[in-house]
Amino acid sequence: MQVKLSFLGASQNVTGSRFLLEANNTRLLVDCGLFQERKLRYRNWEPLPFDPGSIDAVLLTHAHVDHCGLIPKLVREGFRGNIYCTAATAEITKIILLDSAHLQEEDAEFKKRRHEREKRKGPFPEMPLYTTQDAEASLPLFSPVNYREVVQVGEGIKATFHDAGHVLGSSMIRVTVTRQGETRNILFSGDVGREDKPILKDPSTFEDIDYAVIESTYGNRIHDEPPDISESLAEIINSTWRAGGNIIIPSFALQRAQEILYYMNELLMENRIPHLMVFLDSPMAIRVTEVFNQHRELFDKEMSQLMSDKNSPFDFSGLNMVRTAEESKALNHIKGTIMIIAGSGMCTGGRIKHHLVSNITRPESTILFIGYQAVGTLGRSIVDGVKKVRILGRRYPVRARVTRIGGFSAHADRDELLRWISGVTPRRVFVVHGETKSAKEFGRFLRQEKGWKVTVPEYGTEVALE
Ligand SMILES: [Zn+2]
Repeated sequence: MQVKLSFLGASQNVTGSRFLLEANNTRLLVDCGLFQERKLRYRNWEPLPFDPGSIDAVLLTHAHVDHCGLIPKLVREGFRGNIYCTAATAEITKIILLDSAHLQEEDAEFKKRRHEREKRKGPFPEMPLYTTQDAEASLPLFSPVNYREVVQVGEGIKATFHDAGHVLGSSMIRVTVTRQGETRNILFSGDVGREDKPILKDPSTFEDIDYAVIESTYGNRIHDEPPDISESLAEIINSTWRAGGNIIIPSFALQRAQEILYYMNELLMENRIPHLMVFLDSPMAIRVTEVFNQHRELFDKEMSQLMSDKNSPFDFSGLNMVRTAEESKALNHIKGTIMIIAGSGMCTGGRIKHHLVSNITRPESTILFIGYQAVGTLGRSIVDGVKKVRILGRRYPVRARVTRIGGFSAHADRDELLRWISGVTPRRVFVVHGETKSAKEFGRFLRQEKGWKVTVPEYGTEVALE
């Protein structure tokens, strides 16, 4: 058996997922993500580490930008094959790539102006990494597949996609290579979700796997005992209502926004909170929510029940979808308590900034964080409890209540990962998609617990699978 696997991203770091699998004269790329860590962003600008025209197909696990965000560059530089993924992933990825292209264009323009002003040059060209046009050119290549459907992706090579329970449409991908009567199953975990999350089904499990490429975002951590999210949310809403302020929630457009709506719907149905108005103030989150609505077959039992009882979390009384900037600005004039869910999730851009300006100095309002806030972002400074913040060029004292609810993580932790992979007896395991420390500690943990042969590959490593 001659199979070659190259680790071209998310290797001892979290972002830029990209793995090249070569077998039977076929070259497959599993994911093609954007590098997001500040110190690794230069890799987005480097020439691709393979000839894009020589790649036969892309297998895409899910729509997060660190898994799909370099596809427009791949296509611009000559890739012409199919991009296989679930229909929901294809639809959400289109939204994400167009948004990403727009951000790249804005970023290039901003840098150009700043460098002109400061009469200097930056480390990268002052042009977008890719444009809206590049993103649009990649859309016709998407080729939707169903979960468990067997897709022939090359001679003697089949791929099947299985629900990863991470975000809507997310997949774990099993690639089966057959040559001269011998067969090898290679599993790419993508991002592994968690059991009992709202809306989504639980992650799929496997038995017959020869090689596994496993993520390790939380490979050296155990999630805290899950807080009662409904209970915490109800307390925050009720006390903010009594104080007469607003509840402002910075949120990611995919999955997190829909989960908050899910909990709000539940609390309203159970009459545990007043019937306040809820505004989803993010065109991107609204479009993603439409994709959720069109893919009800992906919902778990509880969510399907809600839909068939006409109790959709995406259509409850009091929920408003805010599309235009004018409508968004008008929210500031509403009297009484409202909830505003807006992007970006870490407050680095988007409409959330305006709502922070209107609420952060009001002691009666609450800023509620439900997602991870990276170091250096506005969201992180607010969570860390700074007394004053700079928003849109002005400084504001932080007087609002600042709080967070944990337990929303979409990644399995160390023990959940172990439980998920326990059914297999692999020849070898590769640990990826985690900081070096996390990946190595998870690798050690797997060796101890299972006695498996485990490798934590570095960026650029090539391995022959036998
Ligand atoms: Zn992800």
